[in-house]
Amino acid sequence: MTSLGFAQNRLDRQSAERDAADLDALARDPAARAVLIAGEIPILAASPATSLLPLSALARAGALQERAYLGALDGAPVLAALADAAAAEAYRGDPAFQVLDLRSIAVQGVVPADELGVLAEAKALLHWHARHRFCANCGAPTLAACSGFRRDCAACGAQHFPRTDPVVIMLATRGDKCLLGRQPRFVPNVYSCLAGFVEPGETIEAAVRRETFEEAGVPVGAVRYVLSQPWPFPMSIMIGCVAEALADALTIDRDELEDARWFTRDEVRLMLERKHPDGLTCPPPIAIAHHLLRDWAFA
Ligand SMILES: [Zn+2]
Repeated sequence: MTSLGFAQNRLDRQSAERDAADLDALARDPAARAVLIAGEIPILAASPATSLLPLSALARAGALQERAYLGALDGAPVLAALADAAAAEAYRGDPAFQVLDLRSIAVQGVVPADELGVLAEAKALLHWHARHRFCANCGAPTLAACSGFRRDCAACGAQHFPRTDPVVIMLATRGDKCLLGRQPRFVPNVYSCLAGFVEPGETIEAAVRRETFEEAGVPVGAVRYVLSQPWPFPMSIMIGCVAEALADALTIDRDELEDARWFTRDEVRLMLERKHPDGLTCPPPIAIAHHLLRDWAFA
């Protein structure tokens, strides 16, 4: 599973200790590093390619909007820093830096795989900060607390915590075939597992059954959890499952899916190897769907 994107993170999160951490003191540590995100775009050092910048590299970003303490890496503190989207221009064109969206960083393998988890942590946390500047309870401005893992409202006392949105992604199988679909936004010819957000008060198993039936009209029996993946677009966790389909007939929800159909194991093998006669393919190895499909097709 080493190729699964965003799943590796070497940071010691120090979640018990970080509440009292002093961000200014951590930033003065000469060994400290920071993940810098300008709007939604990470700023990387180019050579060697890394998202872990020395703190001195943050100066040209101007005033930072937020900071957070992500954890320790080999004993040194790693911070997350959010700058205005326009700050990316201060780095673009400088050969010492690379300005690239997070999806491309993962697909192209620009940074070491075990940094993608750190990037996911920074991106999701900073995205949450950027969209929770005001209290959901009373509307007053909120301020970051607990090293960036909480926002507090001074007006009403409410405490707000970072959010992670659970998404189920499932490979429904029936005998020697599996159910895949494609959304209109997918790259042409790509088919993938069905997926959907878990709703309040719902189990993972129930979400798998509901989404599979809603999107493809296929009833599902047994559901088995396989693996999960942080997915920072913007702040989800993908919960990968296999599901036992109980019928063949499809009723496709055309608002959600452009197409859905059954694929045999042989076909999926050809798609994974990019040899399908019709040019059909699956998502790349950074995506959890690729691993669900590979496990099933080569079992
Ligand atoms: Zn409030």
